Amino acid sequence: MFRLIFFVLLILVLYYLLHYLIKDMPFSKMKVKGKHEPEELVQDPYCQTYIPKQFALKKKVERQVLYFCSEKCMESYVRKEPKNSA
Ligand SMILES: [Zn+2]
Repeated sequence: MFRLIFFVLLILVLYYLLHYLIKDMPFSKMKVKGKHEPEELVQDPYCQTYIPKQFALKKKVERQVLYFCSEKCMESYVRKEPKNSA
Protein backbone atom coordinates (compact mmCIF):
# COMPACT_ATOMS: atom_id res chain seq x y z
CA MET A 1 0.00 0.00 0.00
CA PHE A 2 2.73 2.40 0.97
CA ARG A 3 4.56 1.69 -2.26
CA LEU A 4 1.49 2.50 -4.28
CA ILE A 5 1.09 5.87 -2.58
CA PHE A 6 4.73 6.59 -3.12
CA PHE A 7 4.44 5.67 -6.77
CA VAL A 8 1.38 7.89 -7.28
CA LEU A 9 3.15 10.77 -5.57
CA LEU A 10 6.17 10.26 -7.76
CA ILE A 11 4.02 10.37 -10.88
CA LEU A 12 2.32 13.52 -9.66
CA VAL A 13 5.62 15.20 -8.90
CA LEU A 14 6.97 14.23 -12.30
CA TYR A 15 3.83 15.47 -13.97
CA TYR A 16 3.99 18.85 -12.28
CA LEU A 17 7.69 19.12 -12.93
CA LEU A 18 7.17 18.38 -16.60
CA HIS A 19 4.23 20.73 -16.78
CA TYR A 20 6.31 23.45 -15.16
CA LEU A 21 9.19 22.91 -17.54
CA ILE A 22 6.98 22.97 -20.61
CA LYS A 23 5.25 26.09 -19.41
CA ASP A 24 8.56 27.87 -19.08
CA MET A 25 9.98 26.57 -22.34
CA PRO A 26 9.78 29.81 -24.35
CA PHE A 27 12.32 31.68 -22.33
CA SER A 28 12.13 34.78 -24.45
CA LYS A 29 8.41 34.95 -23.90
CA MET A 30 8.95 34.60 -20.21
CA LYS A 31 11.18 37.62 -20.17
CA VAL A 32 8.70 39.76 -22.06
CA LYS A 33 5.85 38.75 -19.80
CA GLY A 34 6.07 40.39 -16.44
CA LYS A 35 4.40 42.70 -14.04
CA HIS A 36 5.84 45.67 -15.84
CA GLU A 37 6.34 46.36 -19.49
CA PRO A 38 10.11 46.23 -19.82
CA GLU A 39 10.13 47.79 -23.25
CA GLU A 40 8.43 50.95 -22.11
CA LEU A 41 10.91 53.77 -22.27
CA VAL A 42 10.79 57.00 -20.35
CA GLN A 43 12.83 60.09 -20.88
CA ASP A 44 15.03 61.64 -18.28
CA PRO A 45 14.02 65.33 -18.36
CA TYR A 46 17.46 66.35 -17.21
CA CYS A 47 19.88 64.58 -19.51
CA GLN A 48 17.28 63.59 -22.14
CA THR A 49 18.30 59.95 -21.94
CA TYR A 50 15.75 57.25 -22.58
CA ILE A 51 15.65 54.59 -19.93
CA PRO A 52 13.45 51.53 -19.40
CA LYS A 53 10.69 52.49 -17.01
CA GLN A 54 11.49 49.65 -14.65
CA PHE A 55 15.02 50.95 -14.12
CA ALA A 56 14.12 54.59 -13.95
CA LEU A 57 14.00 56.55 -10.74
CA LYS A 58 10.54 57.87 -10.11
CA LYS A 59 10.05 61.31 -8.73
CA LYS A 60 6.92 63.36 -8.35
CA VAL A 61 7.53 66.95 -9.28
CA GLU A 62 4.67 69.41 -9.33
CA ARG A 63 1.96 66.75 -9.64
CA GLN A 64 3.86 65.19 -12.51
CA VAL A 65 5.67 61.91 -12.30
CA LEU A 66 9.12 62.19 -13.78
CA TYR A 67 11.63 59.49 -14.48
CA PHE A 68 15.37 59.84 -14.11
CA CYS A 69 18.29 57.69 -15.14
CA SER A 70 20.21 58.38 -11.97
CA GLU A 71 19.97 60.05 -8.60
CA LYS A 72 22.41 62.65 -9.81
CA CYS A 73 20.08 63.68 -12.61
CA MET A 74 17.13 63.68 -10.27
CA GLU A 75 18.84 65.93 -7.75
CA SER A 76 20.19 68.24 -10.41
CA TYR A 77 16.78 68.53 -12.02
CA VAL A 78 15.06 69.23 -8.71
CA ARG A 79 17.68 71.86 -7.88
CA LYS A 80 17.23 73.21 -11.41
CA GLU A 81 20.93 73.04 -12.01
CA PRO A 82 21.99 73.75 -15.54
CA LYS A 83 23.14 70.79 -17.48
CA ASN A 84 26.87 70.96 -17.87
CA SER A 85 27.07 69.91 -21.47
CA ALA A 86 30.43 71.26 -22.54
ZN1 LIG B 1 19.93 61.36 -16.58
